[in-house]
Amino acid sequence: MIYKRSSELFNEAQKVIPGGVNSPVRAFKAVGGDPIFIQKAEGAYLYDEDGNKLIDYINSWGPMILGHAHKPVVDAVVDKARKGTSFGTPTELETRIAELAVKMVPNIDKIRMVNSGTEACMSAVRLARGFTGKEKIIKFAGCYHGHSDSFLIQAGSGAVTFGTPNSPGVTQGTAKDTLLAKYNDLENVKELIAANKEEIACIILEPVAGNMGCIPPAEGFLEGLRKLCNENDILLIFDEVMTGFRLAPGGVQERSGVNADIVCFGKVIGGGLPVGAFAARNEIMDYLAPVGPVYQAGTLSGNPLAMAAGYAMLKELHDNPSIFESIDKKTEYLHEGMARVIESHKVAHTINRVGSMISVHFSEEPVTDFASSAKAASNGVFNKFFHGMLENGIYIAPSAYETWFINDALSYEDLDKTIEVVDKVAKTL
Ligand SMILES: *Cc1c(COP(=O)(O)O)cnc(C)c1O
Repeated sequence: MIYKRSSELFNEAQKVIPGGVNSPVRAFKAVGGDPIFIQKAEGAYLYDEDGNKLIDYINSWGPMILGHAHKPVVDAVVDKARKGTSFGTPTELETRIAELAVKMVPNIDKIRMVNSGTEACMSAVRLARGFTGKEKIIKFAGCYHGHSDSFLIQAGSGAVTFGTPNSPGVTQGTAKDTLLAKYNDLENVKELIAANKEEIACIILEPVAGNMGCIPPAEGFLEGLRKLCNENDILLIFDEVMTGFRLAPGGVQERSGVNADIVCFGKVIGGGLPVGAFAARNEIMDYLAPVGPVYQAGTLSGNPLAMAAGYAMLKELHDNPSIFESIDKKTEYLHEGMARVIESHKVAHTINRVGSMISVHFSEEPVTDFASSAKAASNGVFNKFFHGMLENGIYIAPSAYETWFINDALSYEDLDKTIEVVDKVAKTL
């Protein structure tokens, strides 16, 4: 495939946009080469500026669970846009989407809308600190919670792809309040709690990690964290920005049966528009302004276009829960097919999958935390794999630390084509 126009556009972009992109992982820095500029998308496919048609496994990094330009979502946005795009006043639709989210997700009474996953996680931590009166937080190496200061301590995703685990600009004062634990290691968490008695406000994690590749929680890990939080008056925050409304209508809380104190959302909840949200039971949410003392606000929060897209998306997922089964089955099919062909070429690999999240690591060792993910990523095989796939019209994330997302617009024909390409590419690894 030829990607000439994309390269021209990338050159122009680099003159006026830092690195030519508005979010670092869109650049192909980790894998080399120029990023592909997309002109339009529909269903399971992206169409780029050179006229190539690509099967998309990024899905805007998660939101497009029903495929691109999904008609009910687009219709809802267009209809709203004609009536004005923002008022800065309450609107009925904000209540309707909140009711729907509260109905779908276990253990939450109220939800507050923001504009991104970053804002959701940042606000959730402020709320946890306000509610508990404590200042320190525990996060896990390799988990990504957006780019706010407290989280840029060994964050996953773009932050590790670019080798800036501790970003310049984050103060020592902020960094010292973030304690770093190893994913899937309860003993490590216990030690941190013991060494910081009465000081920890919350533990935040991706309850199924997706920003160091897909890494499932080990058996008993989430339950163990819940118990430790109960015993030490610590709030447990599930960052379900990636997993919410994807792994089940109620996210990982529903799937695992483990309750979080605060839950963060993003990606799917906005139907492809900029939305984040955080939610909890009444006693915690009522700590927020204007009812309570913890301040949080947003000029465009609950924006009518964003709410229209999000509501159309959630409504379809709510009314038609078989979608979750359908995407899980498609992902399982892809998993089995890829494992079979990669195996046949004797290429060392580990495939991790939870529901419709899947990642391929080129290492035989189990990938259970950031260290093992980084080890698998370090041999350069992924980069070769990535370019082989792209050359054959399959678009996966340009980093070994990212999860692939499966949307329901993908047909079994698309999956078969993908497996064929994996076969062809694995032969060259
Ligand atoms: C994407 C993501 C975020 C950040 O969301 P943005 O909308 O990019 O700010 C936070 N947490 C997790 C788990 C994510 O995957």
